[in-house]
Amino acid sequence: MPPKKLPPYKQASRLTHPENTVVKLGNHAVGGPEFVVMAGPCSVEADPQMLGTAWDVRMAGAHIIRGGAFKPRSSPYSFQGLAEEGLKMLAKARELTGLGVVTEVMDSADVDLVESYADILQVGARNSQNFSLLKRLSRCRKPVLLKRGLMNTVEEFLCSAEYLLAGGNENVILCERGIRTFETSTRNTLDLSSVLAIKERSHLPVIVDPSHASGKAGYVAPLSKAALAVGADGLMIEVHCAPELALCDGDESLKPEEFKNLMEELAGLAPAFGREISTLAGRPDLKLAAGRTDS
Ligand code: PEP
Ligand code: MN
Repeated sequence: MPPKKLPPYKQASRLTHPENTVVKLGNHAVGGPEFVVMAGPCSVEADPQMLGTAWDVRMAGAHIIRGGAFKPRSSPYSFQGLAEEGLKMLAKARELTGLGVVTEVMDSADVDLVESYADILQVGARNSQNFSLLKRLSRCRKPVLLKRGLMNTVEEFLCSAEYLLAGGNENVILCERGIRTFETSTRNTLDLSSVLAIKERSHLPVIVDPSHASGKAGYVAPLSKAALAVGADGLMIEVHCAPELALCDGDESLKPEEFKNLMEELAGLAPAFGREISTLAGRPDLKLAAGRTDS
């Protein structure tokens, strides 16, 4: 048999690296047996909103907190995020909950600032082919969560990941968050097959974001279970303490109670798919902060 030709994403390819990459995130790891759930509001809006939601998702068993301080909004008149003030609130949420923080960086000029607060740097769908940002992030020491671009093929997505690997950052997590199609009944079209296509072609871990994919809170739980079943390594889910008051993406945000129920369902289902999902009860590592107790 002639040797297989290497794709343009050489280092991201399974041909050069047959073993799965496992990205360590504090006490957790994405890409191994663990099913890792990142949850929190679309945007960091205020201390009580961020800290309250962070506490709620932690108590429901989330592993990483999310929240945007730099928001890529379609209209320049929409809420753009609190920038460094928001990053400080995320740092407080980490202190309160003991969980790591993922947040988006939109501009190369902000990488040092965001890296000084975040545990994982997120590249949003709209910046998935911003090659100068990817080159800059390839030199940072923290893991990068790379979202699939709205109109990107799996090959283009893996080429974007290649920019990160080629510059020296091996800690890359991919995120399928839906793509643009002719369909209008959902905000985007969740391409769950891409999880299979990516895993066949690449060793990098891949998580699914059913919130941005569907735009509908009612679709998030079924799509999350489908993501577990198809072999994704985890989820990113939007949760808000009061979705009806959210400054961004309230329609797709789960209430804390809904998220708690979903985590319980996922924990029950995970073993059937060869996955482990550590809920709060199984995590004595989590230190309790601010005098709160688990009982
Ligand atoms: C987000 O996760 O905050 C976000 C803006 O998502 P996306 O880039 O996938 O639209
Ligand atoms: Mn959002």
